[in-house]
Amino acid sequence: MFKTKIGLALTMFGLAAMAAPVLAAEGLVVYSARNEQLIKPLFDAYTKETGTPIQFITDKEGPLLARLKAEGAKTAADLLITVDAGNLWQAARDGVLAKIDSKILNANIPAHLRDPDDRWFGLSIRARTLVYNSKRVSPAQLSSYEDLADPKWKGRLCLRTSKKVYNQSLTAMLIAHLGEAQTEKIVRGWVANLATDVFADDTKLMEAMAAGQCDVGIVNTYYYGRLMKKQPGLPLALFWPNQNDRGVHVNISGAGVTAHAKHPAQAVKFLEWLSSEQAQNLFADRDLEYPVNPRVKPHPYVAAWGSFKQDTINVAQSGALQAKAVMLMDRAGYK
Ligand code: FE
Repeated sequence: MFKTKIGLALTMFGLAAMAAPVLAAEGLVVYSARNEQLIKPLFDAYTKETGTPIQFITDKEGPLLARLKAEGAKTAADLLITVDAGNLWQAARDGVLAKIDSKILNANIPAHLRDPDDRWFGLSIRARTLVYNSKRVSPAQLSSYEDLADPKWKGRLCLRTSKKVYNQSLTAMLIAHLGEAQTEKIVRGWVANLATDVFADDTKLMEAMAAGQCDVGIVNTYYYGRLMKKQPGLPLALFWPNQNDRGVHVNISGAGVTAHAKHPAQAVKFLEWLSSEQAQNLFADRDLEYPVNPRVKPHPYVAAWGSFKQDTINVAQSGALQAKAVMLMDRAGYK
């Protein structure tokens, strides 16, 4: 069913691309690495409010970026929506995103959650924090990402694979704060403390932890939320690390206007609307993420996990230091 939908969307897009001059005046075209379920309600709300129709295709970020590059000036895409600052950083470096000067975006989105060169903008916050088995660990035993390298956690740590960009971004941020030598020590410590092989995703990690395979790990909070909604009785809890120093590692989902957008002014307006108080909950709540706009409260279900101090280093660092992070994790034996 899902594949058919993508197929259909691509076919429709193909037609749209051929008829671009006709459709050009009618609305926006979005390439999205976020799935239809998450973005369609937003697009519908915007169309209802402004009359601007939005066409879109969804795919993984790799193929979307390749497509944008291949299409060059001919692209019909006005906007790119994707997750992880590392991916947005790459898109900007590849020259497919336009520089935007918007007072509204600058006012709605904290500086550390957007490109210092104004080519992409965070629209939701994704916190990567500690999770622990609440039957076997008390929060008083936890403190920081670094502390998970301490021998007291030997045989008690679960980690997701280093191949996932989330862990590459986390490691990149550690490098930015602590330097390479110190970060390598920490990552080696994590590897030495592993209870079992690395996991393919955060959910499998938490299921293993609930089953008693390990006591502590690192996950994105929305996976915790999804799992706990289904199985509220699991002995799992979140912990906000590094609250006495730099804060919790955060990443974003976000968007940029394409370098060859056919409707750049309309595209900026849409981006501004996405960052507004009226749209932020629509964007963040469905996936249990946090709004980027500080004037907007998270969904009550998410707010119940408590508030936390977040790391305010610019998320662009996760892109800039990604290659170094990948090499470091490889050297440290983090699979
Ligand atoms: Fe995810």
